[in-house]
Amino acid sequence: MTARVLVVDDVLHNVKLLEAKLRSEYFDVLTAMNGIDALNIIENELPDIILLDVMMPGMDGFEVCRRVKENPLVAHIPIIMVTALDQQKDRVTGLEAGADDFLTKPIQDLPLFARVRSLVRLKVLMDELRMRDSTGKAFAGDAGMEVSSTIKLDDAKILLVEDYERVAHRIMGYLDGAAQSIDMDDVDVGELTTENLGQYDLFIISLSLRKVDGLRLCSSIRSNEATRHTPILILIDEGDNERLIQAMDIGVTDYVTRPIDGNELVARVKAQIRHKRFADYLRGKMQKNMEMAVTDSVTNLYNRHFLSTHLENVFSPDNDKQANLAMLMLDIDYFKIVNDTHGHAAGDEVLEEFAERISSNIRSIDLAARYGGEEFVVIMPETDAEFALFIAERLRRTISDKPFEISTSKEPINVTVSIGVSIASDECNTKEKLLSDADKGLYKAKDSGRNKVCGFKCLDE
Ligand code: GH3
Ligand code: MG
Ligand code: MG
Repeated sequence: MTARVLVVDDVLHNVKLLEAKLRSEYFDVLTAMNGIDALNIIENELPDIILLDVMMPGMDGFEVCRRVKENPLVAHIPIIMVTALDQQKDRVTGLEAGADDFLTKPIQDLPLFARVRSLVRLKVLMDELRMRDSTGKAFAGDAGMEVSSTIKLDDAKILLVEDYERVAHRIMGYLDGAAQSIDMDDVDVGELTTENLGQYDLFIISLSLRKVDGLRLCSSIRSNEATRHTPILILIDEGDNERLIQAMDIGVTDYVTRPIDGNELVARVKAQIRHKRFADYLRGKMQKNMEMAVTDSVTNLYNRHFLSTHLENVFSPDNDKQANLAMLMLDIDYFKIVNDTHGHAAGDEVLEEFAERISSNIRSIDLAARYGGEEFVVIMPETDAEFALFIAERLRRTISDKPFEISTSKEPINVTVSIGVSIASDECNTKEKLLSDADKGLYKAKDSGRNKVCGFKCLDE
């Protein structure tokens, strides 16, 4: 996994040193020696990650960081602040300015590569999600852009695994106020016993547990479907490089070395939770966008595009379930009159209620879609002609037996529907044929007086 890293430092020696280290690990390196140059490079070159010195004459690192995080075009690029060892409070200031991580000078190889890799990994994931999100937005016609700093953290939940009670309490003390709740798992039986692990925003795992190997816990958290994306922060002894490398390989997202510095712990915990929340948010939106792309907004049924794709799959050569497939095509009778008499908004209400009645009177394996204005299609797997006609008749009555209440009319409106039925068979083995057969049935139903069900080649009529 390679990446383009921008190194920003006002001291040439520092720039050269970091550049050499990063190049030796096959990273591409860009450099800047002041804040203004850095901002220009960031906007023009869009690096994957920024290593930013805090102390610079003119515009300091905090200000550069703030400006990057305020600019929606580049705010997603992770920033690692580089602070001097004795500048404890700089770390917190940096994270408050929106930095994603920090390193202390003199920079050592292992923490450098561990932090850079972890953030690059995160960025790859975020870029993918952001890309899909913007595709979804283009679909939904929304060009807005959210920035991760607006994500809320105060309802976050943390699971702490530390079986030395005194240490555990000290950690809880540090984190007081940083999250809504912190649960403990004492790994009594040699593994995590807490239920519903998917509810947590962060796992903090000690690597000095008495009863179980902390790395094994990390690896089981990573392989569990519910916690695959949840960040893990480990507590590790200073200098235990071998296990740190193993941990990073497993997919641990961050670490704090013992003796634990409370400020550092809090800063890292907050950064991890913020990353997690943003990724969750993007994933959630993507899901919603995907749903929107296949759903009709008035009726909440599948749209015509989805129906068409679904039928292509049904009739694809690798599907052997097309036998016993029935289709209903439904068209509301004299719907134009409903619009003309009660208005278009009332018409929409009727469509909504119509869709609701249809959906609640079919099985969950059946699929209802809005095919056009006031035309609907229901696909029913494992359904023969007799059963299809029976269901169609039941749907017809579901519509006609109870007048539709609408908000703009005192009197409920009588609505009826005509339904055509077709069945997949050796002769009817394409989506076009199935649709046109159902349409012929529908035409027959309309022609013979409406409020009727007619099959086409389903039954001898
Ligand atoms: P028929 O019994 O022959 O089906 O008569 P009809 O009036 O239902 O059929 P026609 O195709 O002549 O008219 C359909 C009407 O449905 C016309 C159109 O304005 C209305 N319509 C289509 N989509 C919508 C919609 O989303 N909302 C509303 N309110 N009306 C719609
Ligand atoms: Mg109609
Ligand atoms: Mg029509």
